[in-house]
Amino acid sequence: LPDLKDKVALITGAGSGIGRAAALLLARQGMKVCLVDLKDDRLKQTKQEIESAGGQAMTVEIDISDPNQVEQAFEQTAKTWGRINFVFANAGINGVLAPIEDMKSEDWDRTLSVNLKGTFLCVKHAIPHMKEIGGSIVITSSINGSRTFSGFGMTAYSSSKAGQVAFAKMAALELAQYKIRVNAICPGSIKTNIGENTQPTAELEKIKIPIEYPEGNQPLEHAPGQPEQVANLVAFLASDASNHISGTELFMDGAESLL
Ligand code: NAD
Repeated sequence: LPDLKDKVALITGAGSGIGRAAALLLARQGMKVCLVDLKDDRLKQTKQEIESAGGQAMTVEIDISDPNQVEQAFEQTAKTWGRINFVFANAGINGVLAPIEDMKSEDWDRTLSVNLKGTFLCVKHAIPHMKEIGGSIVITSSINGSRTFSGFGMTAYSSSKAGQVAFAKMAALELAQYKIRVNAICPGSIKTNIGENTQPTAELEKIKIPIEYPEGNQPLEHAPGQPEQVANLVAFLASDASNHISGTELFMDGAESLL
């Protein structure tokens, strides 16, 4: 794995799942990591785990859909560590799952606010810190952004994930002048805590689609992927080993998207 010594990373959703696994790996590879998440004990646990392994970490508790809080997180990181080289815009929610005709407008807005506006805010506030020195930004989208087989009632989630890919491509084009690379990663099913914030509604039963999603749905492993597998891809994209890669969407799904 690449050497990331003395570089600085800001990671959202670092208290759990993919963000946590990425934080642990990047810190192990020598990065100083700012762990961003909602107020939650799991965030402090990630910090302790990194520090007890000899790494360096700080925490910032914010809601990534709040513009002022996101700006503050970037300011605090730059003030503490002196610079920001890598941003992992990863925090996200499944949100409320409902048929379109029953989806409340405020529930739609919340999913889009966290997943898509939160991503926009992270990139926006990264730019002032990266435009002089270049950098890398990775956005966690999903195979659900282009393939919607695995979840009924996930129109808001899938729309936000597709939006993240389009945003990553436009951002890559716009920010190339500053040597800032932007890529979207698209995991398939990964074993994390994302189910905890999923809010299915009773109305989901109304959705009749004549397909069945097969159990053990990943041809390569016949099981969901692990956050640590995604973290390996994140470390590669954070490093100079990927310095010719920008504007891509990278699937990491054990061939699930081919089903
Ligand atoms: P997770 O629930 O384990 O972790 C997500 C983290 O984001 C949590 O710690 C949560 O507190 C944080 N978060 C949620 N809303 C936030 C907010 N408003 N402000 C700050 N932090 C917030 O889930 P995960 O699976 O690790 O999810 C990480 C990303 O991966 C998400 O964007 C998700 O859509 C994406 N993803 C997950 C899967 C999967 O199968 N788990 C598949 C494809 C994509």
